[in-house]
Amino acid sequence: MKRLQSIATTLAQAGSRGDPRTGAVSMPIYQTATFAHPALGQSTGFDYSRTANPTRQALETTLAQVEGGDAAFAFASGLAAVDAVTHLLAAGERMVVTEDLYGGTYRLFDQITRRRGVESIAVDTSDTDAVRRALEDPQVRLLFVESPTNPLLKVADIAALAECARARDVWLVVDNTFLTPCSQRPLEWGADLVVYSASKYLAGHNDVVAGAVVTSTPALSERIGFFQNAIGAIVGPMDAWLILRGLKTLPLRLERQQQNARRLAEWLAAHPRVDRVYYPGLPDHPGYAVLQKTGSGTGAMCAFAVQDPERVPAILEGVETFLFAESLGGVESLITYPLVQTHADMAPALLQKLGIDNRLLRLSVGTEEVDDLIADLERVL
Ligand SMILES: *Cc1c(COP(=O)(O)O)cnc(C)c1O
Repeated sequence: MKRLQSIATTLAQAGSRGDPRTGAVSMPIYQTATFAHPALGQSTGFDYSRTANPTRQALETTLAQVEGGDAAFAFASGLAAVDAVTHLLAAGERMVVTEDLYGGTYRLFDQITRRRGVESIAVDTSDTDAVRRALEDPQVRLLFVESPTNPLLKVADIAALAECARARDVWLVVDNTFLTPCSQRPLEWGADLVVYSASKYLAGHNDVVAGAVVTSTPALSERIGFFQNAIGAIVGPMDAWLILRGLKTLPLRLERQQQNARRLAEWLAAHPRVDRVYYPGLPDHPGYAVLQKTGSGTGAMCAFAVQDPERVPAILEGVETFLFAESLGGVESLITYPLVQTHADMAPALLQKLGIDNRLLRLSVGTEEVDDLIADLERVL
């Protein structure tokens, strides 16, 4: 689907023309399982809500438009969306995947997808040469990349990876949850599919769990659409509406969140009790130059290592503005302890190799007044 207007305009009016019969400016929540047929052999275009529902369809159309995709498919969770793309592969075929994946995606690939006979090979996808070598395995059919990664914010060169993938006839899938179409559009760099946890920035208010797959070609749309209907892990109409509503303010939220994150990252980098800051918007971050090329924003996720791991419990218990909770992307700022909360299922050797240790804390920076966030951290550090 071609983008005819700017993303901000499409998002502000998400679903606003979705009900021509009444002209409702807010897309109605079609809370119905089934749809009556006008006559034998006729359909309104809707038969049963697993297959298609008008509220979900308004969401899917919006996502396809802003991503520059052929179509989009909304799922019950981000992991259901990730799972859907793994079903493009048959037993015996392999995936090359980012080594520091979101913990739940790692668990899915390692404990569910693998048991179907689809193995994944973990690679540092910020290293294009390492990916190119891994793709030489003729069984590899799919390259699954998260960028920036969680929690260390490593950046992959999506344009370069798309070339490598194309040369081997391998699908490139990008989990774009952290940057959203407002800050990075992987399909425009040659990716084949984009996946989202819509629970994060797309919905943006920590009030819904959902996911999406955006496809680049009718052939991929056919396959993902078939899978969505056949498995049925769809998002319900109410949750689809909440995401549509959230999308309207996505550009505004993200701009503010990115500004706040940059200020916090700069402040943390200068703090004597902080050893290291990971934020791809800081010029000394290894992914800075690549993200300046392939993205139009640097996101609002930031991680840092404190000097003294003994202080971590006091920090997590002491924050008053930040909430000590998992997840990310909402207007409320959250602080997370990846080692214990989000990455508990990752093998200890890999955690150590990546640097996810007992000193690492992750921030999802919200839309609050940044001085309040800084004061909160100053107090607990
Ligand atoms: C949260 C998240 C997921 C999983 O999404 P759910 O909606 O929680 O199932 C996948 N990828 C990334 C990058 C995430 O942050």
